[in-house]
Amino acid sequence: MGRILVVGFGPGSADHMTARARQAIEESDAIIGYNTYVDLVRDLIEGKEVIRTGMTEEVSRAQAAADLAQTGRTVAVVSSGDAGVYGMAGLVYEVLIERGWREGDDPEVEVIPGISAIHSCAALLGAPIMHDACTISLSDHLTPWEVIARRIEAAAQADFVIALYNPRSGRRTQQIVETQRILLRHRHPETPVGLVKSAYRPRQAVVRTTLQDMLDHDIGMLTTVIIGNSTTFYHDGLMITPRGYQRKYDLDTAQQRLRPGERLRPENEPWALHGGCGR
Ligand code: SAH
Repeated sequence: MGRILVVGFGPGSADHMTARARQAIEESDAIIGYNTYVDLVRDLIEGKEVIRTGMTEEVSRAQAAADLAQTGRTVAVVSSGDAGVYGMAGLVYEVLIERGWREGDDPEVEVIPGISAIHSCAALLGAPIMHDACTISLSDHLTPWEVIARRIEAAAQADFVIALYNPRSGRRTQQIVETQRILLRHRHPETPVGLVKSAYRPRQAVVRTTLQDMLDHDIGMLTTVIIGNSTTFYHDGLMITPRGYQRKYDLDTAQQRLRPGERLRPENEPWALHGGCGR
């Protein structure tokens, strides 16, 4: 049976790749990926067949993976971050499904999870995604801008922390400008915004700015933009979103006003939805 291993190798440094991702690349006969991604794993692929393609050639990469696996080989399709987050995982399945493939058929498919940019970039900024967060890709090559704008609006309204992927490229320069305009209708101009470029790669750059000033800085293809929610704050350059512990706990004393047994009592959580089942 052929195998397709769809591998997310994390932000780019060997230390942040999972053991399974490394093993998957090692056990493959062939490696398929976008040029930059293949370069990031070059230490692991000596002696293997390598198919590198340009950026917009995802479909041919997925087809090549299916073709090779059909000859009985083990093929690793590599993506940065997590392969299931704006990566190759979904497309590999879609191409196979077009060929009549069902789960359990040849080839076997394994998706290997990796650390996505939202997680690696958040770690470099402090703890900005401690509360409900979402990812939005600003790339409108495959998604109508109208849909993207509606999601930005909804996420802004609902006070999500937002991680913007694909914020800007050589030709797509207005999307981030329009995004800032939508966000400013719902969030304070001083809202913390973190810009992380090339997280855990040699040219890593971290910028802490605000919603009103974010466009004064370099934002490119390798940047992830993390927009804080209405409670996110900066402390000594760290971007922090509170989880809400201060509602119930004193963070500066050893003695808590509520004992463990009291913490789940309805009178001590007046903000919660009471009276439902399961409490
Ligand atoms: N599958 C990837 C995302 C691919 S889309 C993942 O899960 O991370 C490409 C976008 O991801 C880039 O435009 C950028 O916004 C983000 N990105 C990927 N790697 C990054 C890194 N090392 N540092 C910062 N942003 C990164």
